Amino acid sequence: MAPISYKHYDYLVIGGGSGGVASSRRAASYGAKTLIIEGKDIGGTCVNVGCVPKKVMWYASDVAQKIKEAKEYGFDVDPSAAQSFNWEYFKPKRDAYVQRLNGIYERNLAKEGVELLYGWASFDKDGSIHVVKRDGSTENFTADKILIATGGKPIPPTVEGKENIIDSDGFFKLNKQPKRVAIVGAGYIGIEFAGFFHGLNTETHLIIRGETVLRKFDESIQHTITDHYVKKGINVHKTSNVSKVEKLEDGSKKVHLDTGKSIIVDEVIWTIGRRSFLGLGLENVGVKLNDKEQIDVDGYQNTNVENIYSLGDVIGHVELTPVAIAAGRKLSNRLFGPEIYKDQKQDYENVPSVVFSHPEAGSIGLTEAEAIQKYGKDDIKIYSSRFTPMYYAMLTEKSPVSYKLIVQGSNEKVVGLHLVGDSSAEILQGFGVAIKMGATKADFDNVVAIHPTSAEELVTLK
Ligand SMILES: Cc1cc2nc3c(=O)[nH]c(=O)nc-3n(C[C@H](O)[C@H](O)[C@H](O)COP(=O)(O)OP(=O)(O)OC[C@H]3O[C@@H](n4cnc5c(N)ncnc54)[C@H](O)[C@@H]3O)c2cc1C
Repeated sequence: MAPISYKHYDYLVIGGGSGGVASSRRAASYGAKTLIIEGKDIGGTCVNVGCVPKKVMWYASDVAQKIKEAKEYGFDVDPSAAQSFNWEYFKPKRDAYVQRLNGIYERNLAKEGVELLYGWASFDKDGSIHVVKRDGSTENFTADKILIATGGKPIPPTVEGKENIIDSDGFFKLNKQPKRVAIVGAGYIGIEFAGFFHGLNTETHLIIRGETVLRKFDESIQHTITDHYVKKGINVHKTSNVSKVEKLEDGSKKVHLDTGKSIIVDEVIWTIGRRSFLGLGLENVGVKLNDKEQIDVDGYQNTNVENIYSLGDVIGHVELTPVAIAAGRKLSNRLFGPEIYKDQKQDYENVPSVVFSHPEAGSIGLTEAEAIQKYGKDDIKIYSSRFTPMYYAMLTEKSPVSYKLIVQGSNEKVVGLHLVGDSSAEILQGFGVAIKMGATKADFDNVVAIHPTSAEELVTLK
């Protein structure tokens, strides 16, 4: 047998998603000989089955909403046109956009000098990397430094009839619009899916374990979105768990709940949690996992094994694309960049995050409950405002705004901001800068309002 030959790199990145691509490009920009290995599609979760196609669906649903509202703004538009969404036209168009992005990612890697190999990578006992390529052939590599950026994947259901359930990846493959859908889970993915299905005129059922959705967010967001979804006509099944999903003769699915209720739908989408994408022979090199089966790293993305690093969803800190990108770039700055970056590391505090619900929600910093726990009730103060934006003055159906600012100490430093309302995602980005810089309530108040907007309320809170 011929001896195994190894190609050697300065930097080898496993996983061509947000974090891996960003880190490999930055490393190559400093002259590191870099290889990135991707098992599926370049761009990873965000580009292929996450942020990008999801936001496109959100836009479609937003257009439907505007069509419904146009008549009341004086346009000769039949509101029922909002019900005419053509999934068969739109889905291939959305896919084509994603494919264009895949091409852009490939070209950007090439431009920067990163070599891209499609295949599944795993560690061998000697620390080398074994890759099974798309054509089934194999290749072996060694590297001075290795990054594990393999991301996450949906946690599959374990209930009876689980073969009748799809996950978020399955959602993006649907070629037909389900007329009726059941979404299981109260996290942001389920809430976003429920929002745009409802907006596109699918009968939408949302099955949640507790009384409110978005349980990781501030109570103001939980209650405002839950109440609004119910008001809009989304069937929110509270304090309910799925006990069984049965496939009926006509192909539809009967979802049995532990409350005794059952519902019949065309698709059941499971959105309860994600887990780290592992199975790459970590045991061969002794990379440690934490108790949630995520790769354990220190503040500098170092695993317990020298020269093996990890970041992004697979470490489970803050599972968002920009976080993976920022951590990836910083790691490469530190490993391959100039001396000024030798201590650079990602800060996981005060990361803004949003939910593309209808209306949107956005959050940065501590929730009220977390602020009380950290500082005590007496050391924090809450400023809040609820109102109906001016846009809805012309409309019968209103959409709420709820803003909450949490400040701490005698100088009223802002430690949390929680928004619900149209354009919250865009609004939060700017306020995020101020909060990251340590803004106080007085700093907010010192800014002259922009009128008429919703966001002006944030600089005039009493
Ligand atoms: C439905 C949905 C909506 C989302 N919406 C948003 C949003 O609006 N905003 C936001 O910021 N974030 C969003 N996210 C989260 C975001 O997609 C992730 O945080 C981000 O993609 C994480 O980047 P990553 O590099 O860690 O992993 P990924 O992007 O998941 O990339 C990891 C890559 O590694 C590959 N891989 C795994 N194992 C191997 C192996 N052994 N060999 C080779 N390749 C391997 C995978 O195929 C994958 O392509 C969403 C996620 C989902 C599921």
